[in-house]
Amino acid sequence: AHLARIDAVDEKVHAFLHIDREGALAQARAVDAKREAGEKLGPLAGVPLALKDIFTTKDMPTTVGSKILEGWVPPYDATLTRKLKAADVVILGKTNMDEFAMGSSTENSAYGPTGNPWDLTRIPGGSGGGSSAALASFEAPLAIGTDTGGSIRQPAAVTGTVGVKPTYGGVSRYGMVAFSSSLDQGGPCARTVLDAALLHEVIGGHDPLDSTSIDSPVPPVVEAARNGSVQGMRVGVVKQFSGEGYQAGVVQRFNESVELLKSLGATVVELDCPSFDLALSAYYLIAPSECSSNLARFDAMRYGLRVGDDGTRSAEDVTALTREAGFGDEVKRRIILGTYALSSGYYDAYYGSAQKVRTLITQDFEKAFEQVDVIVSPTTPTTAFPIGERADDPMAMYLADLCTIPTNLAGNSAMSLPCGLAPEDGLPVGLQIIAPAMKDDRLYKVGAAVE
Ligand code: GLN
Repeated sequence: AHLARIDAVDEKVHAFLHIDREGALAQARAVDAKREAGEKLGPLAGVPLALKDIFTTKDMPTTVGSKILEGWVPPYDATLTRKLKAADVVILGKTNMDEFAMGSSTENSAYGPTGNPWDLTRIPGGSGGGSSAALASFEAPLAIGTDTGGSIRQPAAVTGTVGVKPTYGGVSRYGMVAFSSSLDQGGPCARTVLDAALLHEVIGGHDPLDSTSIDSPVPPVVEAARNGSVQGMRVGVVKQFSGEGYQAGVVQRFNESVELLKSLGATVVELDCPSFDLALSAYYLIAPSECSSNLARFDAMRYGLRVGDDGTRSAEDVTALTREAGFGDEVKRRIILGTYALSSGYYDAYYGSAQKVRTLITQDFEKAFEQVDVIVSPTTPTTAFPIGERADDPMAMYLADLCTIPTNLAGNSAMSLPCGLAPEDGLPVGLQIIAPAMKDDRLYKVGAAVE
């Protein structure tokens, strides 16, 4: 049924870069056979899923939305891919994304943009716009995203779906193509809080193949999602997540959510987190710096595209020609920014300062969580903007992640879930819930109470 739905709508939505029709049907039949034979089934047996094209899959291409990896079929599965298969999930295919997960609109994909199913002329968010669009268009009931600065939560917000950035280290990064390793985090996307929890439980947990993976059990997310409540909880509202640039309808729906939390028995506490004002600036030094180092592996020698290798050119020239042809503008912009910020003479002023800001943000969160159990905010300042509107203005594009970035810098957990439609444009608004590290279950407890 989901393959038929994809056939009917994906030409217009363009959520998928690759549809694995044969593989999905074979997996579905294998689940049926197991069931008939009375064998034990995995926890998500037969449930279809859309996988962001940033996770390696040994039987499908993995492009990361880039021409530099066009046609590359990895020789191994990411830990997350392996866990999905072990849970008997049916992987439908790989979803569209901004190239190397750099963007907030999916317009930076080398394979063309994805439309927002609410209004196909608008962006579905990014970088994981394909995954969220697949959910909103009912092409898949579950999806996977990755969140470096907001790429799970912001697409969830603008498509009226649920997305969770788990605690850093809560879901393995092994086989997840690296953008900014200290920020990147894979996580679940779904249409309901409970569905996200069921997926979170399957993909989470320790992985010895990822050196930053946390060696403790997955927080009790499913139990929390089944027992939604905010009775007696302290909920923080941060001063810095408001003001200029926030759309009126977004603010209205957010204020209504705060009133709802109060009526359900929560106490609301106002918080001041002054360092959050510097989060965007720190992120746009740290993320490009790590990107410039991570993307050095795309050298035309090891895998993917190779341009100009005619037997007369040096390896260096072939690398340069390949990168020129294989990387898009935003990726080049970040490599240049990051290389500059890390170069000797500038390192302390840029990268060093950004790291200090990162520590201050972590301290602001620590102080905040002494006073409250969770923090709430709008997920993103505006609803889905028209495709093309911010494409030539990187600074305007970067603002989409104003509320999501502090969590990546501090490494704690956060969720976006729908909280109504903005009256002025009828488009979905996202409510962000933020919890301390390894307290991801609180997101689900609060999310299920207000859903
Ligand atoms: N939009 C942010 C960026 O462009 C975040 C992307 C992400 O979370 N992968 O870097």
